[in-house]
Amino acid sequence: MRAAVYRGSGRISVEFIDVPRVGPREILIRIESCGICHTDLKKIEHDLLPPPRIYGHETAGVVATVGEHVTKYVPGDRVIVFHHVPCGNCFYCRNRLYAQCSGYKKVGVTAGYEPAGGGFSQYACVMDWVVDGGMELIPEGVSFDQACWVEPVNTCLKAMGVLDPNAGDVVAILGQGPIGLIFTLLVKRTGAAVLATDTVEFRRNFSKRFGAAAFDPRGPEFETAVQDHTGGRGADAVIVASNAKGVVEQALRISRPGAKVLLFAQTSASERIEISGADVCVGERVLFGSYSADIDLQHESARLVFSGELPLEQLISDRVSLANIERGIALAQHPTERSLKVVVHPQENT
Ligand SMILES: [Zn+2]
Ligand SMILES: [Zn+2]
Repeated sequence: MRAAVYRGSGRISVEFIDVPRVGPREILIRIESCGICHTDLKKIEHDLLPPPRIYGHETAGVVATVGEHVTKYVPGDRVIVFHHVPCGNCFYCRNRLYAQCSGYKKVGVTAGYEPAGGGFSQYACVMDWVVDGGMELIPEGVSFDQACWVEPVNTCLKAMGVLDPNAGDVVAILGQGPIGLIFTLLVKRTGAAVLATDTVEFRRNFSKRFGAAAFDPRGPEFETAVQDHTGGRGADAVIVASNAKGVVEQALRISRPGAKVLLFAQTSASERIEISGADVCVGERVLFGSYSADIDLQHESARLVFSGELPLEQLISDRVSLANIERGIALAQHPTERSLKVVVHPQENT
């Protein structure tokens, strides 16, 4: 089969490798659609994990073969697959901090080499604990390109649970890439108003279509609008969905005392931010993080995506085959005026 193998130093090479063998409790899936996620890009760009690895975890496909002890799925089932599933028994699982569970950190889907998601290949093996708890059936009529959004939607839903905006709140969302736009859709559903920023007009247009007021953060209009919409108080909540320099500082600056500020894009351990402790202490702001998915929200995230309530497929700007995956990764890393979500179609031949 063809697979896009990460070979280190930022390099991806498309190679022919063996189709993974599946054990008695495992499943082989044929991958039809796999989104390129920013966490994949970071691992590639900054060489975070030793090669070789096959990345890709926003995976939708078809069950190709099942191990002899698998009863939940049959060949031909259309499925989405989470690459992490928590153990359910440890300290962190009991406290619903699933992403901190050591079992959760173990990747349960592989196309070969050190398990890393395996979505950027034609086939991947789903390990037993993911077969047990980390797959959802895709209903008839739902495309693979829509279905591959379940994992990213889950990560946003999880953060929404903590943010918990009220109807009538003003929520600022900094960054309108694919994740920022999912947040815009989710926040709008709560009845709160959204004021969003992005430097790219194409993205701001989606934002407006989804009911937000959208601004170029390089001008003064955004911060003025936040003041105007809140009687001069500042935003009730801020979602930081960008890692642009100075963005966390801006989040604090535009938030009102007592606001919640979510850091969603600050995934690099080497990035530093400089904030005033008094903005948190005296200003009684709550600064919090959220990372990865929540298994308790798996069905709900699948339902939201499959029902079409979130029109996510339209955010896909580019579809690439494995042969063109380098172009897709470059596009996701350095968005153009018209690029947004990039999805890999591993079965395409060109
Ligand atoms: Zn992801
Ligand atoms: Zn656990």
